Amino acid sequence: MNRIYTKEIRIGNKSIGNFKPIAVQSMTNTDTKDIVSTINQINRLSDLGCDIIRVAVPDEDAAKALRKIKENIDIPLVADIHFNYRLAILAIENGADKIRINPGNIGDRGRVKEIVNVAKEHKIPIRIGVNSGSLDERVLTKYKGKIPEAIVESASEYIKILNDFGFDDIVVSLKSSDVPTTIESYRMFSKKFTYPLHLGVTESGTLWSGTIKSSIGVGTLLSEGIGDTIRISLTADPSEEVKVALQILRSLNLLQRGIEIISCPTCGRCNIDIVGLAEELERNLPTTQKHIKVAIMGCAVNGPGEAKDADIGIAGGHKSALLIKKGIVIGKIPEDRIIETLTEEINNLIKEETEA
Ligand code: SF4
Repeated sequence: MNRIYTKEIRIGNKSIGNFKPIAVQSMTNTDTKDIVSTINQINRLSDLGCDIIRVAVPDEDAAKALRKIKENIDIPLVADIHFNYRLAILAIENGADKIRINPGNIGDRGRVKEIVNVAKEHKIPIRIGVNSGSLDERVLTKYKGKIPEAIVESASEYIKILNDFGFDDIVVSLKSSDVPTTIESYRMFSKKFTYPLHLGVTESGTLWSGTIKSSIGVGTLLSEGIGDTIRISLTADPSEEVKVALQILRSLNLLQRGIEIISCPTCGRCNIDIVGLAEELERNLPTTQKHIKVAIMGCAVNGPGEAKDADIGIAGGHKSALLIKKGIVIGKIPEDRIIETLTEEINNLIKEETEA
């Protein structure tokens, strides 16, 4: 798919925009002041494939904690600030690689200008995070609701404020909990501006419903070439956000890393517990920077074909399965040894690919 050009923006040791790989983001749910728990969570998310992490900065102690957190992580650290411009400044001074603000709730222009001056001095970008839930009353009255035109106009006004202060190091998000509104807002915005876009459907729900809403919203935009970084907001552990984001990118062939499971829906021909096997394998997958396809198929109808296209796979038989590696049947295993054997084979593949 053809991606739409956006301006390149540096965030710590990563860049987004200008056709750079789409970065996966998440947000910690630890108390930012609890430095050890926050560092541990960030490093776990980073190991899973999170590229950029955001933390809430609700008070001075949280802003000051950023310095220590940053010293102990390898991915860019974004400070999420609402209402208090002093916290934004303190967060930048304590090493934030980017700040996320909604200029609409920071206060008068003078306060925004102070943030901008410190961001310029530290050469860090600002994300303007427009959210349909906190649109300016004037814009809401003008458009009579939280429609895409209102969201885009809000973003345009905030951009103008930053531009007036000579600041152009900007990332934008235009989130709504309504999927069609989110999609249309980003489409409209990307026709007017070239600032890199942080995609997401806000407050999208639990792991199940949020994954569906986000996949449709974010997936539609990505498939149109829109978007430079994504965050899947889920009422779940942040590790789920990272896994879903990676799977969305993989599904659109925008990501060539991690383990992809191809499994059949099962039917009356199946004589092994494919559902249980696929779920157990997925729960215990190792992380890898390589792209490895694993096929878990129920029988000989589509099984051998799919398994042959994968790096490693099984095609179920009677309480057993054929083990197929890179297109070649390499053995037959009893059902109770399938997980153990596949795990061993996956680890071998990771080792082989790493050594290659
Ligand atoms: S691979 Fe076999 S068991 Fe699985 S859905 Fe297809 S026919 Fe049914």
